[in-house]
Amino acid sequence: MSGFNTRAIHVGSEPDAVIGAVNPAVYFTSTYAQDGVGAPRFSDYSRGNNPTRAALETCLADLEGARHGVAFASGLAGEDALLRTLAPGDHVILGNDAYGGTYRLLTRIFGDWGVRISTVDLHDVDAVASAFGERTRMLWVETPSNPLLNVVDIAALAKTSHEHGALLVIDNTFATPYLQLPLSLGADVVVHSTTKYIGGHSDVIGGFVATNDDELAGRVRFHQYAIGAVPGPMDCYLLLRGVKTLGVRMDRHCSNARVVADFLTDHDAVDRVYYPGLIDHPGHDIAVAQMSDFGGMVSFTLKSGVDVARKVCESTSVFVLAESLGGVESLIELPSEMTHLSAAGSMLEPPANLVRLSVGIEDVDDLVSDLAQALST
Ligand SMILES: *Cc1c(COP(=O)(O)O)cnc(C)c1O
Repeated sequence: MSGFNTRAIHVGSEPDAVIGAVNPAVYFTSTYAQDGVGAPRFSDYSRGNNPTRAALETCLADLEGARHGVAFASGLAGEDALLRTLAPGDHVILGNDAYGGTYRLLTRIFGDWGVRISTVDLHDVDAVASAFGERTRMLWVETPSNPLLNVVDIAALAKTSHEHGALLVIDNTFATPYLQLPLSLGADVVVHSTTKYIGGHSDVIGGFVATNDDELAGRVRFHQYAIGAVPGPMDCYLLLRGVKTLGVRMDRHCSNARVVADFLTDHDAVDRVYYPGLIDHPGHDIAVAQMSDFGGMVSFTLKSGVDVARKVCESTSVFVLAESLGGVESLIELPSEMTHLSAAGSMLEPPANLVRLSVGIEDVDDLVSDLAQALST
């Protein structure tokens, strides 16, 4: 098969057979005329299928190296559809640095439903192995993680999961399939918030689940249809347009992030920089082995406390103070008071003075001088 960028641009987006339009049509339709009773040409209803959504699913599944891909109205809707394959009494192991929304979904929704959850430090091989029990169905992992950019060995965790009869689920939102292909490393399922790098322009919320497991895919597909958290055709079109430039955007995100990480490492006000591309990052060697580059997210702590960190976040002019990540524009935020506020007091609580950057694709000199200016205030 051809290369990543060629597939990102062409798979699912063949020119229209009648009109010749080079972009897939946005089919704003809820239903489809039938040629006879019970004989629709494409689908009976747009919750079940929509051509724009099908084009997106074909493209993203191909990029993840998956036979099956199912698109959702948000990353969490996709996670929900996957987790509903569990039964009350089942057990899920979650990395202790997981996305706060995943933790909330598991503890507050699935917990009430009878699913049991353990959080573990994924670096601790013994702790991971001993967390498995008879009813453990999934090990849920983010690598690189949010906001500390921890990197863990997907192939090793796949082996451990499979020895215990559990599935390894990788949230590949931070790396994207351009930098990392979890299914090829042994993971069973990949989940995405396509809101982030795949969309890439901070203009749409979306989710995606990819797998090569036919039975599991059938169940997730049924949940998409039966529960109904489907993305609309315009959302699917925006994601299809975004993903065409994923490769070139990620190249620039990565090169800009590296410059920013080096700048921060040398800065007097900065205590510690979290970026998998730095040689002293604890997961650097694993990142080199399982990723093609280190991504666009950089976090750092200051030598000063949270008040100064808050001030830094409020003093940038190119970096926008906002949650979310993965768009073309650079964002800055204070996880302890923003994205990870609900993790306070839990194992997922980040350092209070940690600042998280989503390094965008602007001119890197502007990004560095903006940070220099903000750090000197
Ligand atoms: C944003 C995010 C999610 C949730 O996705 P939504 O599209 O916001 O529902 C899940 N995992 C990670 C790593 C994320 O960054």
